[in-house]
Amino acid sequence: MPPRILPQPCSWKLFLAAVWLTSVHAMASEPVIDADFPGGNIVLERIENDAVYLRQDLRDTEGWWFYWYFRVRGAAGQTLTFNFTNRNVIGLQGPAISLDEGSTWSWLGRQAVSGTSFSYTFGADADDVRFAYAMPYTEADLNRFLATHENNPHLKVETLTQDRSGRDVELLRAGKLDGEPRYRVALTARHHACETMASWALEGILDAVLSDTEDGRWFRENVEVVAVPFMDKDGVEAGDQGKNRRPYDHARDYTGEPIYPTVQALKDFLPAWSEGKLRIALDLHCPYIRDDDIFWVLNPDEPYQANTRAFLSVLSDVQQGPLTYSPANDRLWPRGWGDREKTNFGWTRTVPGVQVSTALEMPYSTNAGMQVTPDNARAFGQDIAAAVRQYLAAP
Ligand SMILES: [Zn+2]
Repeated sequence: MPPRILPQPCSWKLFLAAVWLTSVHAMASEPVIDADFPGGNIVLERIENDAVYLRQDLRDTEGWWFYWYFRVRGAAGQTLTFNFTNRNVIGLQGPAISLDEGSTWSWLGRQAVSGTSFSYTFGADADDVRFAYAMPYTEADLNRFLATHENNPHLKVETLTQDRSGRDVELLRAGKLDGEPRYRVALTARHHACETMASWALEGILDAVLSDTEDGRWFRENVEVVAVPFMDKDGVEAGDQGKNRRPYDHARDYTGEPIYPTVQALKDFLPAWSEGKLRIALDLHCPYIRDDDIFWVLNPDEPYQANTRAFLSVLSDVQQGPLTYSPANDRLWPRGWGDREKTNFGWTRTVPGVQVSTALEMPYSTNAGMQVTPDNARAFGQDIAAAVRQYLAAP
């Protein structure tokens, strides 16, 4: 049996000193990275010095998708490089960044990006910095929006149903809420939880309906608008991709018995509420990761295709920008996207009275060469509202 080698007293001291130095170093420089907040999504793999390795959390997604949203604390004064390990999940304007715990966002820009990585130098007092694939939008953002219209008698916040977790799913009514409207309009968003930029456009549509403008006054005399901002409320709050959720996602749940409570509730609510007056149903989405034009997806069935083209022609005429839309970019429902009858707009066209049923694809970050932001996405929403008015008011 070989003699046991015990460390000499001086090596013990060196060892303890090394442990102490390592822990002090860790306390001083190891950033804390997490997604433990509404909408958060990240899998942290490891941190090696200034290099962070992470990937989007796909959860129950079939195949690959690209939503992520994480927080970095304890990195003030450091420069870190974030390396994504499951393909390139960075969009055309680089990551979105927030320095105020997710309240406001800007684009970091492509100059920060190299391949599947981006780098960032944290300010000396940057204790909480958030990064995301695009500008996130959760219930907190909706509440901030609703607060800007607090006490507006032309807006009512109701509950469509509860999602599986028990969370309330908001249903907003706006416009003509007293007496019979001439028309009704339905708006839905976030059938795919990750498609956050569509929510900023929804805000713009509702702003227009509630505003003290000619458009706003016309809506309040003629149209009742219903909006369901989060068709996958649980997914939005959990930070799920939502797109291609197994066994199928919310946007493919409109035939047969729905498996999602929100889809079932909408199918129960909309025809009864419509009373034959629902004319336009718009479902708001975002397209693929680096698609860079606004487009609408058209139902090939007539007369809905022709009606929708007429509506979108009005939109291209009345739009004031700064984001511009061209009907040349619209897409007839492609065969490769599966059975269109399973979609929201495949179903809404069957509600009596509906003329236009279509889906917006609001690009995540770039439209016709211009950065997409919450502000200009809202402005595009106002253009949509102007087009709804022109279309419905036409003789
Ligand atoms: Zn979508």
